[in-house]
Amino acid sequence: MAYVDEVYDRVVKQNPVQPEFHQAVKEVLESLRPVIERNEDHYRKEALLERLTTPDRQIMFRVSWVDDHGQVQVNNGYRVQFNDAIGPYKGGLRLHPTVNLGIIKFLGFEQIFKNSLTTLPIGGAKGGSDFDPKGKSDREVMAFCQSFMTELHKYIGADIDVPAGDIGTGGREIGYLYGQYKRLTNRYEGVLTGKGLSFGGSLARTEATGYGLLYLVEELLKDHGTHLKNKTVTVSGSGNVAIYAIEKAQQLGAKVVTCSDSTGWVYDPAGIDVALLKEVKENRRQRLTEYASQRESAEYHEGRGVWSIKTDVALPCATQNELNVEDAKQLVGNGVLAVCEGANMPTTYEATNYLKEHDILFVPGKASNAGGVAVSALEMSQNSERLSWSFAEVDTKLKDIMINIYHSIDDAAKEYGHEGDYVIGANIAGFLKVADAMEAQGIV
Ligand code: GLU
Repeated sequence: MAYVDEVYDRVVKQNPVQPEFHQAVKEVLESLRPVIERNEDHYRKEALLERLTTPDRQIMFRVSWVDDHGQVQVNNGYRVQFNDAIGPYKGGLRLHPTVNLGIIKFLGFEQIFKNSLTTLPIGGAKGGSDFDPKGKSDREVMAFCQSFMTELHKYIGADIDVPAGDIGTGGREIGYLYGQYKRLTNRYEGVLTGKGLSFGGSLARTEATGYGLLYLVEELLKDHGTHLKNKTVTVSGSGNVAIYAIEKAQQLGAKVVTCSDSTGWVYDPAGIDVALLKEVKENRRQRLTEYASQRESAEYHEGRGVWSIKTDVALPCATQNELNVEDAKQLVGNGVLAVCEGANMPTTYEATNYLKEHDILFVPGKASNAGGVAVSALEMSQNSERLSWSFAEVDTKLKDIMINIYHSIDDAAKEYGHEGDYVIGANIAGFLKVADAMEAQGIV
């Protein structure tokens, strides 16, 4: 049996009922086949893939807090420190009712390769809780964040593990988490990224994931003889990634006609009004029904349906497995040119293969959404030197990083005989640096 298959079977057996983690591992191991086959005995002897797929540390804890009615609430907290071969652990905190250990493990595993692709010195981790910030008062969110950090602070530090935002964790949550960390440790250090600008945050961090996605898309299209200008783009989601993806796509001359939230989606053939979307989502924390009620050109639909709209470029920016094989068939039927992931693993395994088989340009999130964590690493650099860079400086670095990611995944795909397969390219390019660092550091 091939070494990659042995390791995949082992992962499934040892991590029952964690389908998203299995999915993420399967995609990576399948991609690594050509690398591993060149040196199978060596990698097997080193148990390199067993070590790579087993987190360094998995921390689970109770988070008790008191709601506005005086009722005690209990949530589950997680931090999975997956791999620190190339730098301190780095990755976001997801606050969403669907969070469980398997979800955090899939995200932490993906983060290893994503962080490696940025070329910056950051290892892979992820954390979060099944706490749902939606509908909670600011005081309730603060109570949760303080309790969460009271446990988490034992395991993190500016040179140990640096959490950040993800779904449900934005500037408000990072602020409360940072305040509690400082109070508990008496240290003013860059232990979190995505901080407010008044306390060590980086300019362009808020925009980074969405902007970075579009910088990569533009480079991808350029390499295939075209550009975003005058293209139709469909986006799912309406959180931080989606908002700034829409904004940058529009700046690059594309027309973005959709967005969505957990209950419905908007089709706005005149082009999404990004200022209104920001007002509804970032300031008022309301549903998209509010957007639609204030925008004449917009249609609101319950449920899901973004991928039924004819488009040139589809950007899934909501959450994992939101684009299935039926959606992929619709997109292909409607003549889609490229699908690039803004969220983490938003395309199912079957849908990914369907898109690749139909020669759609497909870029996985670990490459195309790496701009967020890349600017987080730049925030860490600024914190270390106690300086702040200008927006233009950070944005220029972000753009260079995304262009470089595109070419490194393209080159890796070519080198291993799979030209145009950016899944294989991303996984191989991300893996090689981590594997080299792991081997150099011995059996630890
Ligand atoms: N949660 C983001 C991601 O999926 C950002 C992580 C970070 O900035 O550390 O990459």
